[in-house]
Amino acid sequence: MIPKQQFILWIAFGERLHTRDWVKKYMEILDDSCLLCEGNEESIDHQLGGCAFTRLVWNKYASNMGLLRFPGDWEEVKVAILTKVKGKKISGSVYKCGFGTVVYHILGEKNARVYGRVRRSVDEV
Ligand SMILES: [Zn+2]
Repeated sequence: MIPKQQFILWIAFGERLHTRDWVKKYMEILDDSCLLCEGNEESIDHQLGGCAFTRLVWNKYASNMGLLRFPGDWEEVKVAILTKVKGKKISGSVYKCGFGTVVYHILGEKNARVYGRVRRSVDEV
């Protein structure tokens, strides 16, 4: 696994991402909406689970990995992927690398939008 992606997964699984709901605990911010779907409040659960943009990316990951169903909640996503990557099978490593890549690029897209860079589509992400 690519170390940057492994680090992001460690942060995400430890619930330590600095999403807008987390920032709001420490300072006043004008807009707490999700930058990917511009809808709900940005939280880890929303950003990596229920966000409409993220759901489309997860659906592409699931179809490419041959998964029939992929959960819509971040807690369920974590459980599902931990089940898939157990053991030392090569397929577990493939799921883990793919999962890390998806999380890394979703968060990369969010950061790109924070800093006003070009917005990418679901297919580009
Ligand atoms: Zn969203």
